[in-house]
Amino acid sequence: MFLGHYGIAFALKRAEPKLSLGTLFLAVQLADLLWGAFLLLGWERVRIDPGYTAVTPLQFLEYPISHSLVGMIAWAVIGAAAYYSWPTRDTSRHWQAAALVGLAILSHFLLDVVVHTPDLPLWGQDSRKLGLGLWNNPTATLVLELAALAGGAAIYVGLQSRRHPVRAGRLACLLLILVAIYLLSFFGPPPPSVTAIAVADIVGLLLLAGFAAWADRRAPPAPRPVAQ
Ligand SMILES: [Zn+2]
Repeated sequence: MFLGHYGIAFALKRAEPKLSLGTLFLAVQLADLLWGAFLLLGWERVRIDPGYTAVTPLQFLEYPISHSLVGMIAWAVIGAAAYYSWPTRDTSRHWQAAALVGLAILSHFLLDVVVHTPDLPLWGQDSRKLGLGLWNNPTATLVLELAALAGGAAIYVGLQSRRHPVRAGRLACLLLILVAIYLLSFFGPPPPSVTAIAVADIVGLLLLAGFAAWADRRAPPAPRPVAQ
């Protein structure tokens, strides 16, 4: 899953406006970010097999550290603790915000279960594996991904507050880029190598998080008119 994760990030931003959308973009995709790093380190394995599912040519051979249920619970606890202990002056509702970061990290597993074939382990490589296999149905996958992103973006726009107004132009850019990247990967050729997947994954996810932080940044207050 790709767009659906970001739908969750948009929705959680409205649950706790003090969270940066950039932080939430990182949290919902932390599992895939780690996966890219672990691929490069040789700790996890994937195979490029065009036609393996109708949507993705990737066969996930081994990825319990980044993508098992127990692994993701651990990453969620670590991520929430990191957010909580990050130096900040704004400590209002800090517990709640940290818990939502953990929830965002864990949500990755639940959404991945919907689309993956049964390859998501409960814990170790030989444990039971989950996956409902929506990737075997391209139309349903595309509809679900777009609907999840649109739903999250609608919550983000609909529940805007005075503290965090929506910057429509920046938001439109961000949404367009997300959809364009997804459609390119959906209809484009399979990736050339595992190294290319890992590097594009890490660089892409980090850039998107930075872009989301930019799109979500509060506009500076308009300058007061100078008294005559
Ligand atoms: Zn994933």
